[in-house]
Amino acid sequence: MTGGSESPSFSVGHLDGEFELPPVDESTFPDLYLDLGVDLLAPGDGVVTDRHHASADRYEADDAMNQIRGQISPFTLSGWLRHGCERVLQIAGMTACHPGEPNADYMRADVYDRDLSQGYHEKGECVDAGSDEQGCVVYELFGGFGDKPGELLRRPIRFSPVRSQVDVLRGEAEAHYRQLHTQVRSRNDEDGGQPLRHATRDVVGNVEGTWLLTLRSLKPEFVGLLLEAVSLLNGKSDSFEFQLGGARNFGAGIADVEVLNPLYSEQEIRRVYNRARKPTAAMQEKDDEWRTYREEFVRALQTRVSDADGELDTPIDRRDDAGERKRGEL
Ligand SMILES: [Zn+2]
Repeated sequence: MTGGSESPSFSVGHLDGEFELPPVDESTFPDLYLDLGVDLLAPGDGVVTDRHHASADRYEADDAMNQIRGQISPFTLSGWLRHGCERVLQIAGMTACHPGEPNADYMRADVYDRDLSQGYHEKGECVDAGSDEQGCVVYELFGGFGDKPGELLRRPIRFSPVRSQVDVLRGEAEAHYRQLHTQVRSRNDEDGGQPLRHATRDVVGNVEGTWLLTLRSLKPEFVGLLLEAVSLLNGKSDSFEFQLGGARNFGAGIADVEVLNPLYSEQEIRRVYNRARKPTAAMQEKDDEWRTYREEFVRALQTRVSDADGELDTPIDRRDDAGERKRGEL
C-alpha cells in the first residue's frame, strides 16, 4: 500500500515484473482529472440544481440571466465510466463483473443470463473464484456488494454557468442548465396541429471542465484500466452504447473525454482551461514523459489480467495516440 511515513508509491508487489512509474508526490495521484467536454447532456434525473422546486413559478426558462448552478450525478458518470472499463476487459477477451445483482428485478426476462454469455460474470463471482479474494479489476475499482466500497472515489461534477466560479482542480465544469419544454403536436389534419402533450427535460449544455476521481489504493493496473477505458469512451463517443447519460437517440451525451496528464502541476491544469494561453514548453515535455508512463500503466493492467486468464491483446487505442491531441493545439 502507500506505506508509513515515506512518500506514497504505487504498489506492484502483487504483479509479475517491474514497472517504471512516476513518483506519486510529483503527480496528481491519487487524484486523476478527466477532461470533459459535452455539447449537450441530458442525463435523465441525473441533474441537481440549486433551484429547488418551490421556486419553479419564479423561474423563466428562457431568461438568459438565469445563472443556475448544480451538480451532475455521480451515478450517471460512474455507469458510463464503468461501462468503458467493462468493454476494455471484454475486448481483451476477459469477462467483467456484471453491474447488477443476480436476484434483481430486471424488466426483461433472461437479461442477466444473456449478459453472462456476453462478456460478464456474475457480480462478485470473481471474489469466490480467486485465491486472494480481491476479485476482478472492475470489482475492485467500482465495488461489489454493500459492504465493499470501490477503490475509485467518484464525485459529482459541480457546474456553474459563470466561468470565474468554476474550479477545475475541484472537479467542476462550466455548464448551462436549461429545462427544455417541448409541445408534442398532432400531425393529423383533423387536429389542426393541436398539442398532444407537453414534455419537459433537464439538460446541461456546453459542459467544459473536469471530473475528479481519486484512487483509494494505488495499484498501477487501476490507472491502466481507467486510461484505456477513457480512450475507448472518447473514440466511440458517438455510438449509442458509449454516450454519457440518457437521450441517446437525440445526440445528447456525446462526450469528448481524456485523462489530463497526471504530471501537470495545479497551475498547469488551470492553464489547460485558459483559452487565452497555450501549453508551455514544460507541459509539452511532461506530455512526452507521460507517454512512456502511460504504456507502463497499461502494461501493468495486461500483467494483472493475464495472470488470471493467459494472454491479452495489445492496447486497443494505439492507433489513436491521446498524447498528440492536446487541447492547446486546437
Ligand atoms: Zn468480477
